[in-house]
Amino acid sequence: MPSSARRAAIQAIAAQGPLAPTDTDRGPLTEIYGSMVFNERSQRQRLPKAAYKKLRHTMQTGQSLDPAIADAVAAAMRDWAVENGATHFTHWFQPMTGQTAEKHDSFLSLTSDDHIINEFSGSALIRGEPDASSFPSGGLRSTFEARGYTQWDPTSPAFLRKGPGGVTLFIPTAFCSWTGEALDKKTPLLRSEEAVNHAAVRLLNKLGGEKVENVYSTIGLEQEYFLVDRRLADLRPDLLSCGRTLFGANPPKGQELADNYFGAINERVLGYMQDVEYELWKLGIPAKTRHNEVAPGQFELAPIFKKATVSVDQNMVIMELLRTIAERHGLKCLMHEKPFNGINGSGKHNNWSLSDNLGRNLLEPGSTPEDSLQFLLFLTATIRAVDRHADLMRVSVASAANDHRLGANEAPPAIISIFLGSQLEGVVNALLGRESLGASHVGEIRLGVSAMPPLPRDITDRNRTSPFAFTGNKFEFRAVGSSQSTAYPTTVLNAIVADSLNYLSDEIESRGANGNLKDVVHEIVVETLRKHERVLFSGDNYSEQWTAEAEKRGLPNLKDTATALPHFVADHNIALFESTKVFTRREAESRLNVMCENYAQQIRIEGATSTQMVSTLILPAAVRQQTLLAHSIAETRQALPDVELHAQEAMLREITSFIMELSSSLKKLEDKLRSFDDEDRGTIDLVNFCRDTVIPARAELRGVADKIEDLVDDSLWPLPKYREMLFHR
Ligand code: ADP
Ligand code: MG
Repeated sequence: MPSSARRAAIQAIAAQGPLAPTDTDRGPLTEIYGSMVFNERSQRQRLPKAAYKKLRHTMQTGQSLDPAIADAVAAAMRDWAVENGATHFTHWFQPMTGQTAEKHDSFLSLTSDDHIINEFSGSALIRGEPDASSFPSGGLRSTFEARGYTQWDPTSPAFLRKGPGGVTLFIPTAFCSWTGEALDKKTPLLRSEEAVNHAAVRLLNKLGGEKVENVYSTIGLEQEYFLVDRRLADLRPDLLSCGRTLFGANPPKGQELADNYFGAINERVLGYMQDVEYELWKLGIPAKTRHNEVAPGQFELAPIFKKATVSVDQNMVIMELLRTIAERHGLKCLMHEKPFNGINGSGKHNNWSLSDNLGRNLLEPGSTPEDSLQFLLFLTATIRAVDRHADLMRVSVASAANDHRLGANEAPPAIISIFLGSQLEGVVNALLGRESLGASHVGEIRLGVSAMPPLPRDITDRNRTSPFAFTGNKFEFRAVGSSQSTAYPTTVLNAIVADSLNYLSDEIESRGANGNLKDVVHEIVVETLRKHERVLFSGDNYSEQWTAEAEKRGLPNLKDTATALPHFVADHNIALFESTKVFTRREAESRLNVMCENYAQQIRIEGATSTQMVSTLILPAAVRQQTLLAHSIAETRQALPDVELHAQEAMLREITSFIMELSSSLKKLEDKLRSFDDEDRGTIDLVNFCRDTVIPARAELRGVADKIEDLVDDSLWPLPKYREMLFHR
């Protein structure tokens, strides 16, 4: 009986002590760090000097690698990998499934006299050709022209993954169709890097000063996740198929006491975290912080930021290792945005900034007037970018799962605005001639002249409710979902800021001829800020007043994925994609198609899982409870004919009426699921149908089922309960 499985699981968890770490001989951090990465040190050791220099240049600038040195790089990489036990290599890519993909090839090659040698050529390093037919393309290619190819991304270093019986060399790649159309999440990111690089270098070099050659975005990602004991998780079909619970009555205690946040870390969990970190360090992933999060059973891991193309890849590895190492520890790691109703969900704060090849953070307020001028230009560009393309930022974090979080008072609302902090707000106000900047500054400030104050790091309190907050030297995009790849949000940030940087350069160019550069810049900054300041907001983003105020300001409030998705191909966004070369119109349209399809499939799977669980687990438990009561009444009546049985009769009536309600809700949802039309696949119509009919029908079914959970004898209930999943460890 399933309910006894539940009990057995709880007993087993209670009997278990903390697990020993899988590998105790760890060595000092400075030695193990990066030992599984083909990093700068290994490259220098193994490559001829000229090839080494060219490779480093390519890695830093993203420019294509001189094919003449490809063979040398491949040979060095192979030797390094083989010495470390590798037998296979794989191009590793990020198709539009949200996961990573890999197809392993061994280095094995046969000579004519049947000897084997390890072979890995430059062309095998640079290009691979997996069968693309089963990856989503949104109509970019049909199965008969299924060829796609993977292309080495030299900006993200190759690394080794150890399996139970051997080692594999992983080579980060981008994935394109034969005609060069992007079929993955990496290609647009790389293109957006090129766009922002170009635009930022162009603007910086207009300002004079040291010559800047290269600019790239940096991101640091704070990964939240839940842990549930596997013995409990495996008894829940919803966790297996959907990564979240589709049923579950509220536990008596959730996160109300706020006693989990930054609390002492449970020993079993700590052992797991230490295993994860050890593996990450070996892979050159600088895991830095770990802590308990707000919800019971919720945790966070944050590495030190890196170049975006590297961070995005490393985050995919982090998520994968969090999942697989959890299994080893008898745990299930839930990366879903909302695993438990009524309990905080998980996000992934995306800390974003721009850096140049001189090592400067372009969003770091400078201490000299020149630095301040540059900083304010980049800040102005970001403000303009967010105001013009808030809808696109919203789309970049839209998913069925994230709909449960955004606007639910645990994550920012769907209205995208910017929090600057009081210091910078003061600067903006002063620039707009509204107030002076503190007592020591009189009147309006002028950029680049002596009245321009040094801008120290803002030490005022953070605004935790803002979707896009300036945090001293970077922006924190807080609406990103925990399970998603951050390739899209980062691509969008790069692209929209690139567009605005170009706008500023254009303006400087067109006005610059007559006048002092600083005056011209001042004028442009003031004009641009005046036009776009409506996107700045420092109050409580969770409040109803803000919703009303934002509407008055004309800011978009795209409440759910269905409302947000069509904006992906709105004219101003297509124009942006085309001018930054991030997507062609055809690519953008096909991506929309994939996003719609993903959404609808997710909702369909949740619906189908719900109906199965109700039919085969929840209804039968309710009926058993009903039978129990009916028997009790009949037998008691026989034994004691003169006794009133009001209590049991009321209970029997109650469960009986809930059973009727449950079966009618079940039927409703089954009907909706049957009307899924294959012809609508990938359309916004199907997305709307899901939102308007499937989701409400599922919510209704859940409502009844959760009430039944609170009526049924605990020993008959087949599903692990919220309190058990959240607290048994
Ligand atoms: P908090 O929880 O207060 O937001 P954390 O320390 O958890 O702060 O996370 C901050 C993240 O921001 C870290 O990953 C950090 O490396 C990253 N970060 C710091 N500076 C930059 C930068 N210039 N660009 C991108 N990310 C950055
Ligand atoms: Mg944060």
